[in-house]
Amino acid sequence: MEVLTAFGDVSDHFSQLDFDKIISDWTDSVDNSESFNEKLRNYIKNNILKVLHPSPECDLNVEEPKIDTYFFKLFEVFICGNKETEKTFNELKNLDSPSVICGKVFKTGEPVYSCRDCSVDPACVLCIKCFNSSIHKKHHYKITASSGCGYCDCGDPEAWKDGVYCSLHEPKLKSDSNKPLAMDNLPEEVKKRATAIFLFLSNYILEILTIKENDCLPERYQALAKSENFVTMLYNDEIHTYEQVISALMKSIKCEQKRAVDIATFVDKEGRAAISFGPKANCLRLKEEIEKTTARSTGQGSIQPSLLVKVIHNSIVAHQMFAMRALSWFLNIAGKSDGLLHLFCSLSMTSPVTYPNATETIIEESMLADTDLWKGARLLCHELFMTGILKNIDLKHKFSKIFVKVYPRLCADFVMDDHHRSVSTMNFSVQLLTVSTLARMLIREDNVLEIVLKSFIEECKHKLKDDKFNFDRNDRSSSNNGQLRYRRALYILYDVKYLLITVPSEDEWDSAFCQNFINGLNYLLDLLSYLHGVDSVKRQTGAHIEYESEWEGAFGLQIKLSDIFGPFLEWCSVKTCVLEEAFKRTVNLIESQKNTPSVVWKTIPLQVAGFEDEIHVVDYDVSTHKVSVHIALHRFLAGLCPGLNAYNITLTELLSRSESRPGLCDSVKSRIALLLDPVLRVQVLIAQHRAGMWRRNGFSLINQIYFYRNVRCRTEMQDKDVILVQKIAAELPPNEFLAHCLNKYGLLNWIKQEYDDVRTAPSEDRVVQTSVIAEEFFILILTILSERFTPNMGCVDKKDSIKREIIHLLCSGPLSHSELCKSLVEDICNMTELESIVLEVADKKKISSGKIEYCLKQEYYDWYNPFFYHYGKTEQTKSEQRQLKRRKEANEEECLPPPKPPKFHKNMESILELLKCDVMIYLQKLVLERMEAKRSRSASENQLHIVLHLIALSLYEEENAHNDGKCFGYVKKAVSEPSSIYQLLKKLLDSPNVKSPPMRSLLTFVFKKFIIVRHLVDSSIGSKIDKDLERFLSQSDKEKTEQKKKADIAAKRRRRILEQMNKRQKEFIQSNIELFRKTKSGSQDEIMETDTLTTDSETFHVALGDDRTHITSPVSVVRKICILCQEEQDISISSKKPMVLCSYVQKSTVLSQNRTKCVQKIGAYYESVFFPADLILGTHVSTCGHVMHADCWQNWYEALTHRDRRRMGRLRGPHHSSYDIEKREYLCPLCETLGNSVLPLLPKLTYFTSQSRQNNATFGVSLSMSDWLDGLRKTVQNSIQKERSQQNNDSDEFSIFFVPCPLSSITRLMAESVAKNFQALFEYYYDMDPALSLNDETVQMVSKFALDVYIHGCDAEADDNNRNVPLLTWVSAAYTIMSTEHLLRYSNQPLFSTLPARQEDCLVSIVRYAAVATVVMQKNLIKDYCVRLLSALVCDSADKRLRKTPSILDMDMFHLLVPLVLSLPTLYAEEDVSSAQATGGTETKFQSSRIATGDLNSKHILNLVFTAHVVQTILSASQEDIYCGEDSMDAQSSDEKGEKLADIFMHLRNLAQVPTIEAKSWNIEKYIQKAVMPFLRCSGLFFHYLTSVSPPDLLKELHQTESSIEFELLTKYLALPQNLADLFHPEDNEVVQNLCKSWCTDDSMKETLNRVNHTIVKHPIKVNSLFDLPDDYTDVINSASTFSCPNNKEVDDARTPTMCLICGQMLCSHGYCCQEHLGKLIVGAATAHVQICGSGTGMFFRPRECQLLMLSGKVKGCFYPPPYLDAYGETDSGLRRGNPLFLCQQRLKNLNKLWLRHGIPETIAHSLEVNTNWLDIEWFNL
Ligand SMILES: [Zn+2]
Ligand SMILES: [Zn+2]
Ligand SMILES: [Zn+2]
Ligand SMILES: [Zn+2]
Ligand SMILES: [Zn+2]
Ligand SMILES: [Zn+2]
Ligand SMILES: [Zn+2]
Repeated sequence: MEVLTAFGDVSDHFSQLDFDKIISDWTDSVDNSESFNEKLRNYIKNNILKVLHPSPECDLNVEEPKIDTYFFKLFEVFICGNKETEKTFNELKNLDSPSVICGKVFKTGEPVYSCRDCSVDPACVLCIKCFNSSIHKKHHYKITASSGCGYCDCGDPEAWKDGVYCSLHEPKLKSDSNKPLAMDNLPEEVKKRATAIFLFLSNYILEILTIKENDCLPERYQALAKSENFVTMLYNDEIHTYEQVISALMKSIKCEQKRAVDIATFVDKEGRAAISFGPKANCLRLKEEIEKTTARSTGQGSIQPSLLVKVIHNSIVAHQMFAMRALSWFLNIAGKSDGLLHLFCSLSMTSPVTYPNATETIIEESMLADTDLWKGARLLCHELFMTGILKNIDLKHKFSKIFVKVYPRLCADFVMDDHHRSVSTMNFSVQLLTVSTLARMLIREDNVLEIVLKSFIEECKHKLKDDKFNFDRNDRSSSNNGQLRYRRALYILYDVKYLLITVPSEDEWDSAFCQNFINGLNYLLDLLSYLHGVDSVKRQTGAHIEYESEWEGAFGLQIKLSDIFGPFLEWCSVKTCVLEEAFKRTVNLIESQKNTPSVVWKTIPLQVAGFEDEIHVVDYDVSTHKVSVHIALHRFLAGLCPGLNAYNITLTELLSRSESRPGLCDSVKSRIALLLDPVLRVQVLIAQHRAGMWRRNGFSLINQIYFYRNVRCRTEMQDKDVILVQKIAAELPPNEFLAHCLNKYGLLNWIKQEYDDVRTAPSEDRVVQTSVIAEEFFILILTILSERFTPNMGCVDKKDSIKREIIHLLCSGPLSHSELCKSLVEDICNMTELESIVLEVADKKKISSGKIEYCLKQEYYDWYNPFFYHYGKTEQTKSEQRQLKRRKEANEEECLPPPKPPKFHKNMESILELLKCDVMIYLQKLVLERMEAKRSRSASENQLHIVLHLIALSLYEEENAHNDGKCFGYVKKAVSEPSSIYQLLKKLLDSPNVKSPPMRSLLTFVFKKFIIVRHLVDSSIGSKIDKDLERFLSQSDKEKTEQKKKADIAAKRRRRILEQMNKRQKEFIQSNIELFRKTKSGSQDEIMETDTLTTDSETFHVALGDDRTHITSPVSVVRKICILCQEEQDISISSKKPMVLCSYVQKSTVLSQNRTKCVQKIGAYYESVFFPADLILGTHVSTCGHVMHADCWQNWYEALTHRDRRRMGRLRGPHHSSYDIEKREYLCPLCETLGNSVLPLLPKLTYFTSQSRQNNATFGVSLSMSDWLDGLRKTVQNSIQKERSQQNNDSDEFSIFFVPCPLSSITRLMAESVAKNFQALFEYYYDMDPALSLNDETVQMVSKFALDVYIHGCDAEADDNNRNVPLLTWVSAAYTIMSTEHLLRYSNQPLFSTLPARQEDCLVSIVRYAAVATVVMQKNLIKDYCVRLLSALVCDSADKRLRKTPSILDMDMFHLLVPLVLSLPTLYAEEDVSSAQATGGTETKFQSSRIATGDLNSKHILNLVFTAHVVQTILSASQEDIYCGEDSMDAQSSDEKGEKLADIFMHLRNLAQVPTIEAKSWNIEKYIQKAVMPFLRCSGLFFHYLTSVSPPDLLKELHQTESSIEFELLTKYLALPQNLADLFHPEDNEVVQNLCKSWCTDDSMKETLNRVNHTIVKHPIKVNSLFDLPDDYTDVINSASTFSCPNNKEVDDARTPTMCLICGQMLCSHGYCCQEHLGKLIVGAATAHVQICGSGTGMFFRPRECQLLMLSGKVKGCFYPPPYLDAYGETDSGLRRGNPLFLCQQRLKNLNKLWLRHGIPETIAHSLEVNTNWLDIEWFNL
């Protein structure tokens, strides 16, 4: 208040101003900018503080209209020159020539689309509107969620190869491209005035926003009235977490958490927030406090900087607020007229700023000021640029030049900045540099390539040490901060990539372009030279290395660089002169590397047959010197080689043209050898590593070698090395080349003949090592000779090489699309043609639930080469085994012949000399000889394998040459002498040394090939060869027949053994049949049990009443095995060791018919006794079906909790486990399914009563329905009467206590015959038969489970005596049955179809348990419940019913039926002996005779409840529920019973005064039959498990479509009348009719029917399903992008929109804005929602991530694959691939079933067991 008075009344102040005069004053001075600016400045400074005075009371939303009125409106009037600004702006708008570029600026999370077919680069994107109306919708589009920057490129011809315009932006006319800027259309006067005000304001804004001084304004803005108030301003950074900021705020400004969260959210969004106001000293104190609390040591010695807080003078803040508004106003004006927008943009690019200390143009200054601004201010500026400049091609050109000019300074700012790149001006590069015409222009005219690369080098200078990158962690100079700066600098490399996106055609390369490209290239080469040779390793020979050396840094940079490596090489290859220049410079740089050790040459004598010479080789031993795998310069050189081939240029030629470094050897040959050496070193390093020589060098080296060949790095490492070796091998004399290699691999000794001599040979270890190294040597030689799939190295194109790659991947087995992509180089994955290439070589095969796999086509298996260079050792073995297996299965020979490679490029052909040079022939012979020798220490089958490949390769070449009419000359050399290769091969065939069958067949293959090729080239010796051939063929045939014989014998033997085994197995089963059955699941037992019924299959099974099917045979005993102690056990009444099932009890809303209602207090909910008809909350029980002894389980569980408590004590953290001990959870010891209780396993209920029933006459008791009803009614009346008299005395407080009437007093009121029967009906329940009492152990388990159900179902503490315990028991049974019925209905399965064992077990056990539990509980309580429940139905209107009894429309009848059936036998039971006495001993035996078993009582109750249910369906029906159309045939069959039912229908509706319905009687009957089906089905299940009477077989097969048959069968089975009308007239008595009348007319019914806003539950009860998701995923993500947080309108984008799949509500999850309190816990929106919607358990869809989320029990959750699949049948969690996604119905259905069967908690537990890292997620925050 104080502040307000200080400034006086606002409206009063402004009313004194003459606005007309002010404006005309401005207008007059418009030509004189000095005086104009002066006037405007004065106006602002004098008036601003009247409307903006930062203070706690200052609500910005309220002040806004005043600012608009007194400032911006004024400006608008001034610009327009009149007061009708809107009209003028409209006129201006009409002058626009509408832009064809859409330019919609994206919000965070908004879906954006690029087209794999048509986007020029992935940065070219469309907004959803444009996308939906573009041709790309039918293309291979890619969807991503925007990171909140960028705009729609629709209409930009540079962005699209095709489909430039969507149908919305399609230009009407083909406008000429030289369209004048819209600003030229502006009227001169408007333009002049607008210019004046724009210039003034943009200067003003810039100056004010970037003020460095905090204490006072620049003098020219200072107003006369001065206040001494300051503002404490908190700024955003990206170091501190939300939590840190919130706790700092709560501590320092002592506010509530809510306010702290609000401030933190605001700071994060806007970049700064005012947190206090007042005198400077106070503000400073606060600043200090915050700084102190937020600066902390990070533990690694460095100190985390504190939050930025500034204390700023009130008036400065006011001006800054105004400046921000002015920016928004600019944006607003921009929307009104393109002319004004362009005017503003071009002014800002051309006019220099006018305020002091700045010199550049407005736009430059603002870009440079970017990092000084806070987030909100930055974003506004950027949006202004984006809408204005980037949409106009001319302005964009100009802007890009300015951008390049300030680029180095922007980089420097960006690297030091602490904001995300998306809030930096640097981010504009993606909009500018990706446009290829702009990029070319900038390269040619502004040398941008050099500028960008130079900036990068500049920004990572601090990482360099002696001109090399130094990534060493222990280097102190690279502090925390340095690391951060370096990471930010890496972003700059993206800009290089953007510039090089499209390769310019040859004619674009004028001299300026060439020059500037080479300038850029020079910096790239510099950069590579910094990486060249870093992280070198030295072999550790003594001790193991002490610490792992750093290796990630260099590989990280390598990966970043590989993005620009390829494009650079491609650009170089376009023009010969550039290519040569690049080569020259690279070689110079390599040769001038300083820190490589000086080269030492040595001379080795090489003496092999036919070749004896001395060769100069480089003396550099890899096993004792340092080696680096980062030879970046060599690899760049390698990258140039294919280009050189294309232009027919040789290395020799180029090198002889360029000077070598002085002092270096000068022969070209030596220079080439020098180039080769570092590459060979890397190969030898890997070879030695494989041979185990580098074991002591630790993981760092293992990782380096792994990544060298890994798919992410190999293109620029391994592949390049191979290319360079190939190129060099083609230019060096072959023998010399091999000598270099042999020397480097250290094999000079190994190649000597005497090496094999035992006396001279080295130790065994060394022999093995050397053998592996020799193998690696041969692999290198084979690789360079057979890898010809790089374009311009071999005669192939890119497609061939991709094909070959894919073929080799698929040779290891079929792959899904994403698996395939994971193994391919990124560039290839992003190719549009990828799919068509894949489909050329592979077939799509559909496997389970929509997934698709690629399988290699038959004809491509020939391409397989086990030595494919991208295979690792494991892939090689895997693929080899698979291929051998495949051949075996196809009955082919187990041989993998080497594939025939394509031809080398003609410039590479000389490399083939290697195959036939003397050294090579010698080496081949050496390996063959050693293999063949009787004793050889160095023979190696692996070497033989490779040598055979080499020989095959030579033979292929020989063949090729022959076909070309030439002679290759290998064969001649290979057969020349007596011990020739040919002879050796022949000998080897007969040698026993080659053992493995695949190797033998390969040998055979090669030899056969040899004979054929030899025959081909040398026909002169034909006959001799023919003989060889003949002998060979016949021999191999013989071998074959022999093999076949052997195989036949083996097969016979196998068959015989198998038969024997089968026989024995059968015998075993026969003898152990009992055991065998028991180990199977429970359902089997049930089937067995029902089979033993001695019922005539002809008679129909009836479950209830006098006529129910008798079970006379003795009950078979079921035995189970305890999974814990493995002991067998009878399930029987007398068993002292009861058994239990692992089970899980949960609250459930799955069946709820009303999602708008929720249960606040569960205790009160169950208090009402009657279960609501809308089923909003229930208790569900499930089990995994695993059985244990009760005490075994008890011991196991105690041990488990003990262990976990101890562990938790140690961890002291929050509980991280897939189960929650606090909630008594555990995982089943066998299958790890979640459980929280154990369900007692009980024998069949008939077991309890069969004996007493046999001795009792009650079976013959007949008592009519009306007499029975009459008796019950009397009982209830008498019981309640007492209550009423009591109540009259009492106050209005409603407290009833029933005193159920004893049987004798009821029978006294009856006619004698009736009384006798009535008594007989109940009497036998109370026979005290000691044989039928339940033993203590069973009682204990039953009571325990009852308590558990109560605890979990009510969220309550343990309380044995709680009145709700029995109720929960009945509810859990009824609800579980009902859920099963719903699930069956959803899956369209027959009612009694074979359920999964666990479900069957569950239903059997829960029903038996509920029946037994009723007997075990306090009789008084049960009696009390029984009377209450009965009172709802049996009292007619004459009796006063209980006040709180709901109308029959409001209760669920099945949930009424179950407790009534179970509790009725207890109704007249003797009172409990005082419970205090009972505890004294084991005297109280629970009589099992009171267990309900489906006698006449049950039958009558079912009849009664069913009648009520029919009345329910009649009253709840509405016109649309009943089919009214003409049913031609069936309608005719409408008969008398239909008429009768229709009469009742109309009559009851009249009674209740519900609107009449026009319908045919037949239709009414159909409706009712259909509506009661769920109830009948549930009852069918219930009585089946209660009575064990098996249902009619037909019910096991019926599907829902046959519901009328099902109706007939079920009513028969349940002993209900077939004709529903008969329900209402039993024995022509009016008792039932009277009851119906009372149900329809009593007060509660009136209440129900008159109730507003609550609809009556309809019948049949519908099966719930999860919220319907749209088919097209784009619809989902689009709706999510428009969703904003409901709690915080300021934050217009919700971070994580999350859709509840149960009710469809969209939530703002995982944000502070929507957190709620849940008990002591503060939880996220999803967790809070799920408490209400799913009683704690729920399923969500997160559209942005395309991911399902499941939550359960507040602290647990998991992610789950979504039901959306792409064309490859794969899901895409997190939108990593971005392929078009569509809903998979099958998956959605499975999800629905999962939900309906209450499987979420168990799914979560399983997922958490598998993904242990999810345990760390704080799910409650979601
Ligand atoms: Zn658009
Ligand atoms: Zn468009
Ligand atoms: Zn397209
Ligand atoms: Zn056991
Ligand atoms: Zn289990
Ligand atoms: Zn919901
Ligand atoms: Zn929110």
